[in-house]
Amino acid sequence: TAPVLTIDGPSGSGKGTISRIVAQRLGWRYLDSGALYRAVGVAAGWADLDLDDAGALVRCTFDTVVGFREGESGDLRVLVNGHDATDELRTETAGAAASAIAAIPEVRAALKDRQRAFRQLPGLVADGRDMGTVIFPDAGHKVFLTASADERAERRYKQLKDKGVSVTLDGLLREILARDARDASRAVAPLRPADDAVRIDTTGLGIDGVVALVLDVVSG
Ligand code: C5P
Repeated sequence: TAPVLTIDGPSGSGKGTISRIVAQRLGWRYLDSGALYRAVGVAAGWADLDLDDAGALVRCTFDTVVGFREGESGDLRVLVNGHDATDELRTETAGAAASAIAAIPEVRAALKDRQRAFRQLPGLVADGRDMGTVIFPDAGHKVFLTASADERAERRYKQLKDKGVSVTLDGLLREILARDARDASRAVAPLRPADDAVRIDTTGLGIDGVVALVLDVVSG
């Protein structure tokens, strides 16, 4: 079976950026598991579903077709039921819907095999919250990325400002702390590092520095 590197951590820890670069360096496939939850959130929004209606959300999970493909500038585009929903997926609305949907056990179960299907030669970099604990517990390489809440808020602030979105640093910090508390305390798949994960605190580190540390984990 193909080797797997799992990269888990809270939002804003830099997982997405780091995972994509590491996958490229290794020539391995990349799984953005958060995009699957976000895709179901977006599809639920399109169908005007109630986020409290677990049954409808589970059906929506089975009905939603998610595709990944490379865009013209080499970026990753996400198709939801055939429509390019890449930009919509990144919105706070989609994130909040994803986080609500991700708390439903049947939704997580329905997405399990879809995530495992990404494991193909020559290898896979899997980015998420439960990659090392639930989806690929037998992965040969596991990383758990963290960063201080202040640093994560600042990174997000810069990203959004570059896109012309108007937000305040203070508001983002509050959102991040609230999301952390929700993700850590939820009954279903609470965010925690796998016992055999290497923890890397990225506070104060640049992208290249973190990539080098993660590649060290893979080369053992
Ligand atoms: O990583 P991202 O911010 O895209 O994830 C969106 C939401 O989806 C998270 O807040 C989390 O609640 C959920 N999620 C999850 N398990 C994953 C990936 C994401 O529960 N493997």
